[in-house]
Amino acid sequence: MKQYDIIIIGAGPGGLTAGIYAGRQGTKNLIIDRDLAGGLGREVPEMENYPGFNNISGLELIEKMKEQAIKNTELHEMEEVTKITQTNEKYKFTITTTKDQYQAKTIILATGSSHKHLNTKGEEEFKGKGVSYCATCDGFFFRGRNIIMVGGGNSALQEALYLKNLGANVTLVHRRDEFRAQKHLQDMIEKEEIPTILNATVEEIKGNMMVESVILKNTINGNLKEIPVNGVFISIGYDPHTELAEQLGVNLDETGHIIIDKEQKTNIDYVYAIGDVCVGLKQWIVACGEGAVAATSAYHELK
Ligand code: NAP
Repeated sequence: MKQYDIIIIGAGPGGLTAGIYAGRQGTKNLIIDRDLAGGLGREVPEMENYPGFNNISGLELIEKMKEQAIKNTELHEMEEVTKITQTNEKYKFTITTTKDQYQAKTIILATGSSHKHLNTKGEEEFKGKGVSYCATCDGFFFRGRNIIMVGGGNSALQEALYLKNLGANVTLVHRRDEFRAQKHLQDMIEKEEIPTILNATVEEIKGNMMVESVILKNTINGNLKEIPVNGVFISIGYDPHTELAEQLGVNLDETGHIIIDKEQKTNIDYVYAIGDVCVGLKQWIVACGEGAVAATSAYHELK
């Protein structure tokens, strides 16, 4: 069985940064991701708050980070970790994947999160047929078409701006009377004259082969209104991926995120966690910072 000092599970911004730092420490490291490197970071249309770049897409930054990470750290993409067991030996963990088995002295969980669903009627049926969770991936198909973007956070507003810029006729639909997103993004929505429907929830997504309309419910008076649309983009937050953490007995908080200390340690010895799967600010740069801290802490613990 192949043996490593540090195995990083997940190759999003945090996992890749942990790989960059671990690689430079001279330890033997492996990053494993069930998909292509980047995670949801690949979907970010553009970032204006990552230091060093006025504007850069998630995909472009991921490619740069990946190039840097694989200089010193092994990276396995499209390989899913299915099981982690603890041993009493020097290599404390046995990691089983869809392709192989490995042993590691320490583990960094960088397993990220996935898009939350509305769980509304028609959502599952029309997924890929007008319902999308990724503006960057699917926005192109909706140029000149009428779509709604559901959500009131930074992601929803940022993606609505991106879709408008692509040439889609986008309307924002939010369940409350004010957005959660940063003021700067709200100002941009106003400046771009993107229509908004507040105090509204999506009751049903309707269509035949493709989405044709949505039924919105006014949360104040309960009135229902059907509006014709070609697409429904949903951006209402994320659910953390904690299945592997739970296998190990890692403690989660009441929202289901991993609890970590200042060194990114979990309650289980030699298990660290970083990025969106953890409690804390969901920002690209935070995940990267946590990756640097975890790799450095793991190195010191191994010495
Ligand atoms: P978020 O901040 O959690 O916002 C989710 C939005 O969806 C909220 O407006 C929420 O409404 C709404 N929502 C949640 N469940 C819903 C439901 N069942 N039906 C209808 N609406 C629902 O999620 P996010 O925008 O995806 O952002 C995730 C994290 O990434 C945040 O910490 C965010 O700050 C960060 N982020 C930062 C940037 C940036 O810095 N530029 C960009 C993107 C994301 P309520 O407001 O009523 O709760």
